[in-house]
Amino acid sequence: MATICHDTKNQLTTHAAKGRNNQTKGFIKMAKIEGAVIIDQERCKGCDLCVAACPTNVLELKNKEVNDRGYHFAYAVRPADCIGCSSCAIVCPDGCIEVYRITSK
Ligand code: SF4
Ligand code: SF4
Repeated sequence: MATICHDTKNQLTTHAAKGRNNQTKGFIKMAKIEGAVIIDQERCKGCDLCVAACPTNVLELKNKEVNDRGYHFAYAVRPADCIGCSSCAIVCPDGCIEVYRITSK
């Protein structure tokens, strides 16, 4: 399965334009980028690579549950800390992770 990283280009453009309008006295208001991960837990083999790759400790393996293949699968234990960097999706050998990026004020 292909890794997908969705940048919301229209929102980025909109916020970039707002940032220019908000330049006052040398300060630029920056858009905040948040991420959201979707993990195909049935395909996950619990290798832990995504957990190790995440810079903000969003991911963990379920240590008391297994998927249909018998693996402890990855899940987002702290989803609000995701910054949408895609490191987890890049390192996953089986392409189980999709990352979405959202910009907000
Ligand atoms: S996108 Fe980055 S911050 Fe979010 S879960 Fe993956 S590695 Fe962690
Ligand atoms: S890197 Fe992929 S296969 Fe390995 S634990 Fe994470 S989601 Fe599962």
